[in-house]
Amino acid sequence: MIRRGLIDYLETLRMAGLEDWGPFTPPPDPEIDDKHDKHSRAPAPSSSEHMGKKTDSSLSPQAALDLLAAEVARCRRCAELAVSRTQTVFGTGNPTARLVFVGEAPGAEEDKQGIPFVGRAGQLLNDIIVKGMRLRREDVYICNILRCRPPENRNPMPDEAARCREFLDRTLDIVAPKFLCCLGSVAARNLLQTESTIGKLRGKVLDYRGIPVVCTYHPAYLLRNPSAKKDTWADIQILMKLMGITPDADH
Ligand code: SF4
Repeated sequence: MIRRGLIDYLETLRMAGLEDWGPFTPPPDPEIDDKHDKHSRAPAPSSSEHMGKKTDSSLSPQAALDLLAAEVARCRRCAELAVSRTQTVFGTGNPTARLVFVGEAPGAEEDKQGIPFVGRAGQLLNDIIVKGMRLRREDVYICNILRCRPPENRNPMPDEAARCREFLDRTLDIVAPKFLCCLGSVAARNLLQTESTIGKLRGKVLDYRGIPVVCTYHPAYLLRNPSAKKDTWADIQILMKLMGITPDADH
């Protein structure tokens, strides 16, 4: 209901000719304030600028994410993807998660449902989170380098990743995670702006704006190469140790 209200409000602004509204304070909404007085971990991060856009620090993290998702849904910066997508695929999970997983781009099922990691690779990621880390999917936040599906599931083009980077950075500014996990080489190389291979990036702790980053194989790669699961488990154990999560004895 909150999201619908925000989208309606944005649509009103758009119809009034305000295509690029930048920072703004939405009308008072007691429901938003009440909810986040009770549940929010902390105020949203202070305003930060991305290509002239600001994250309004007066919004709760969930409201700020909803606002950003509405902006993404209208995005047509990548002409080919904007035409071929069914819908944009923003992100999902806890708006104040300690851990954010960053993947590559939506696949066919994600494009259909509008939710990241819901196909077979998504089920494997769920297993990593639930069976491996003993967390719940709703405890973490999950997003991708791209918010639109590349046709035929091709790799994101560098210019597409560059255009969508603003949305990733703004998402991370809002969620303000303490830990990041890159899934696959596309995520790792784009987030960290490196040419290194995933083989060289995994197995260690890297850094993104002061946030520790662990890179591992994409779940889709693990489906094709099950023997690499042991390497991913080693990477996840590094992540768990960083987060203070003790592995169960049966692993
Ligand atoms: S991939 Fe990102 S930048 Fe490109 S059209 Fe989709 S939302 Fe916009």
